[in-house]
Amino acid sequence: MDIRSGKTQKWIGNYFISTMPVKELIQSFDTVPEDVADVAEGLIYRDFITVGLLLNELKIKNESKLKTINNLVPDNWIYIQERDVKIGRLQIFNNWSPYLVEDPNKVWIGLEYFCNEGDDLWNMSQSEFTDFAVEELVKIGIIKREDVIDSVVLKVEKTYPAYFGSYDRFNVIKEFTDEYDNLYLIGRNGMHRYNNMDHSMLTAITTVENIANGVKSKNNIWNINAEEDYHEE
Ligand SMILES: Cc1cc2nc3c(=O)[nH]c(=O)nc-3n(C[C@H](O)[C@H](O)[C@H](O)COP(=O)(O)OP(=O)(O)OC[C@H]3O[C@@H](n4cnc5c(N)ncnc54)[C@H](O)[C@@H]3O)c2cc1C
Repeated sequence: MDIRSGKTQKWIGNYFISTMPVKELIQSFDTVPEDVADVAEGLIYRDFITVGLLLNELKIKNESKLKTINNLVPDNWIYIQERDVKIGRLQIFNNWSPYLVEDPNKVWIGLEYFCNEGDDLWNMSQSEFTDFAVEELVKIGIIKREDVIDSVVLKVEKTYPAYFGSYDRFNVIKEFTDEYDNLYLIGRNGMHRYNNMDHSMLTAITTVENIANGVKSKNNIWNINAEEDYHEE
């Protein structure tokens, strides 16, 4: 069902490749065994809010030996360790690519907040959140309030599939969905796995290869990023 129009459409296909959150996929089945429904219900996600700020300049200056445009600090990401602010990470979009920023003399930064849908951060309005975020950066000396020219707030649900809740029983879901020969769970929330973009693409490529080659087992898809110790560096 399209939740915006309320219209239900039926699509007939030979193969179904799902990247929607597996919790919602299971909930969309007419009937599922009780244990499958329980495990799906117990899957937990962390959510995320990002605030984009367009600035005249950053207050912090480049003290490294790296040459940068307008002597901007050279970092793409800055992890914020101060305990008296809620911001977790900061991105400087100019440093990903100068073409991301229309005016090279301005600075676009992205503030990242890790939260849970429905918590105090999540429930703030766009303007409350912008004010709150600007105050945090002023407090830790990264920007001056008067340098903020523009802003945008984006709330993103289910950014991080969590490895707690019912995750230790995820096999119940895997065994249930694997029984459908033409249903493939891939990607990040599709598999409820902390997959990065490369892993996610690889699950898609492997799925298509399996279909093309008539491989019935899905083990090679589930084995992608199965190491326990993958961490983002
Ligand atoms: C904040 C953040 C930062 C990240 N940073 C990096 C990084 O630096 N490097 C990296 O490699 N990876 C990064 N990732 C991970 C990367 O974004 C994911 O691995 C990748 O996008 C997952 O691809 P996907 O196709 O599984 O899911 P998605 O890209 O999330 O696509 C799933 C799609 O399904 C749609 N959908 C959901 N439910 C339904 C429904 N019921 N009906 C119809 N459509 C539906 C969604 O709208 C979405 O378009 C980051 C992720 C986040 C959230």
